[in-house]
Amino acid sequence: MTDPQYRQRPRVRGAVVDEMTRCVHYRSPVDIVAIRFACCGEYYPCHLCHEEAAGHPARVWALGSRAEKAVLCGACGVELTITDYLGTIACPQCGAPFNERCALHAHLYFETDPQERS
Ligand SMILES: [Zn+2]
Ligand SMILES: [Zn+2]
Ligand SMILES: [Zn+2]
Repeated sequence: MTDPQYRQRPRVRGAVVDEMTRCVHYRSPVDIVAIRFACCGEYYPCHLCHEEAAGHPARVWALGSRAEKAVLCGACGVELTITDYLGTIACPQCGAPFNERCALHAHLYFETDPQERS
């Protein structure tokens, strides 16, 4: 916590199993992102981690909050905005591939616009 080397990197709560923010629920090689939840402002590796550990219902980010930094790349520690994250399949900073199937779960974290589906 006080180590300056880790000061920049936000704390990730929940059932994290490694330093890449994988958790007991999602731990494949590409499951390396953590999501900051709108309700509490804390990072969790997945919605199940939040459900088990937070003690309150999850709230999704509203469409108007797309510029919020709410996604953490577990590989390099960079924080992405929701817009950045939804528009990419790999980390823009370190190039680590993200789990494409996460798109199926995007509605659990972010309010989605029905018009937006491609
Ligand atoms: Zn919360
Ligand atoms: Zn989890
Ligand atoms: Zn990265």
